[in-house]
Amino acid sequence: MGKQTKDRINLTDAFWGEKRTLIREKVLPYQWRALNDQIPDADPSYCIHNFKEAVRVTEKRNRGEEIPVQSVRDFVSLPEGNALLPADETEGSEEAHFYGFVFQDSDLYKWIEAVSYIVETEQDETLERTVDEMVDLLEKVITKEGYLDIFYIIKDYDSRFTNLRDHHELYCFGHLTEAAVAYYDATGKDKLLKLAMQFADYLCEYFGPGEGQCHGYPGHELAEMALMRLYQCTGRKQYMELARYFVLQRGCAPKYFNREHGEPEENNLDYYQADKPVMKQKEAVGHAVRAMYLYCGMTDLARERCDREMGQVVRELWEDVTTKKMYITGAVGGTHIGEAFSYAYDLPADSAYAETCAAIGLVFWAHRMLQLEADSKYADVMERALYNGVLSGISLDGTRFFYVNPLEVDPIACRRDQRLSHVKSRRAKWFGCACCPPNLARLLGSLPHYSYHTKEDTVWLDLYMSGEIDTVLHEKNVSIKTDSALPWKASVSVEVTGQDGIFGTIALRIPEWSSAFTPTVICEGKYETRVEAGYWYVTFYGQTKATLHPGFAMEPQFYRANSRVRESFGRQALVCGPLVYCLEEQDNGKGLHTLVAEPEAASRARQTSLFFINEDAVGYEIPGWRKEPEDTGLYIKASRKEEWEPVTLHFIPYYAWANREEGEMRVWIGQRERN
Ligand SMILES: [Zn+2]
Repeated sequence: MGKQTKDRINLTDAFWGEKRTLIREKVLPYQWRALNDQIPDADPSYCIHNFKEAVRVTEKRNRGEEIPVQSVRDFVSLPEGNALLPADETEGSEEAHFYGFVFQDSDLYKWIEAVSYIVETEQDETLERTVDEMVDLLEKVITKEGYLDIFYIIKDYDSRFTNLRDHHELYCFGHLTEAAVAYYDATGKDKLLKLAMQFADYLCEYFGPGEGQCHGYPGHELAEMALMRLYQCTGRKQYMELARYFVLQRGCAPKYFNREHGEPEENNLDYYQADKPVMKQKEAVGHAVRAMYLYCGMTDLARERCDREMGQVVRELWEDVTTKKMYITGAVGGTHIGEAFSYAYDLPADSAYAETCAAIGLVFWAHRMLQLEADSKYADVMERALYNGVLSGISLDGTRFFYVNPLEVDPIACRRDQRLSHVKSRRAKWFGCACCPPNLARLLGSLPHYSYHTKEDTVWLDLYMSGEIDTVLHEKNVSIKTDSALPWKASVSVEVTGQDGIFGTIALRIPEWSSAFTPTVICEGKYETRVEAGYWYVTFYGQTKATLHPGFAMEPQFYRANSRVRESFGRQALVCGPLVYCLEEQDNGKGLHTLVAEPEAASRARQTSLFFINEDAVGYEIPGWRKEPEDTGLYIKASRKEEWEPVTLHFIPYYAWANREEGEMRVWIGQRERN
């Protein structure tokens, strides 16, 4: 079995390196305590509790004891009175209990995956030992068929796979598999991988087009992309075939989910992207995280199988999402009803759902689209989501999390307006449904893998992060050392060395935000350059050393949305390089909606230091205006002269909001034409 990448990556980036250190030192230990219900005043997880209960059930089952059958109707099961019941308190009780959401297993798997990316480059015996102990536990629990989903193992094993639509066995399988491959890649230990393969083999037998096989597919997608990853790791074609079956069977008539639930046709199936066959889906619909994961699996299939038709479908879906349904922060899934996409250009700022996991899913998808075709538009979106809609999901200290990432918040609205009850003005310590925190950990832990991709004799640098990548071009070792001061300064340079000569091409992405591109190459001998689809390609013919300076520039600029976006009409958002900025009450006072600026004022921006973030962090002060509230009634003749007070607007990066005092926040601010 081959490792996915043999490259050695050493991340030294000031910005992302700090985040990765945070993941290792703070976030992973914190999340382990959360999974063990040890965070005071936080929503309990029950995740590890459930696994321990499953061991108890399995031991009983192995002794031939009867296991009482429990109802599997619930999507979330809580102990009586919602009280926390640590596993050891239930040991004496007859019946084992599964608590939390049906997909609670996946939080452990995401945590293991995150640990894998850390121990890939740094030794951490404590983290690795914890994973090994959990793998031993999983080995005890997996059934003789190869099935591993704790909800059904505890509650009613014979009912497994009876509710693919609402329950998440295949989703949990997906996360188990992603963790297993990552842990194997990082450590060479294959025990977890073998468990994932056992489960996958069982699924290959159980699901498929054959008579006697189940013709279903996942209610919450993920297994598709996970099976592709397992195929890439093991070379076993049956895993890719099952991924393909799940994708192509989705939405075909007769609709599996309708039959499973004895419901009439056309019952809200677009929520699951199962209303029509995926090859006919031209518009992103339904639950946003599910959609992102489905599109990832489809993109993997398109690439791996050179499937042009599927490639065309994912391109169209990409255009739909990124030109009609994506926030300026890279967040997707605007409505809280169904955590879903609504319709084109519907991007409300204050009621935005914009789940952290959906932005993470968009990063996964963008990375895959880049490998399908190297066009910088995919990397631009990946960068936008990463620096903004993803990073806003975690506090600067790594112990508080947002599930929902609005672009406008007024704390009183969160408390008093039922329509905004999903919006929070403070990050939470944990969630009963905690999909986002460990998803953040696994993405931020694995970030260096998203900074580049390779194919044949070309290395594409998609995101700029300081560090070194040792890879192979034309069978010769090449080291690529990037120096980047992003996101605070546009300075980027790349040094390429190859003792046996560099034969091949290095492609540097030209970011959409860069207002300059004045490239220079420092190297002896012949080389060729060209610009194509937003990348600057430099081809070498055996040099041992070269330095590339792309000459990017960035300055704060106001962006406006397409006029079709009602919610942002007449407004503007400050952007500098990859970062979107916002105003917070702490720096600007109450009533952020009364603050406006001339679009040109961005050129008069003054940099400020933001020590609450770190010593490099940059904010901006921009001259603007404040509208004083009238002291006459509610409605005033518009012809009456308005009073405007000149003020200085203080902008901070959006991702860093809600790390100080609670207050208003706003990304889109009023636009005022020059008087
Ligand atoms: Zn989530």
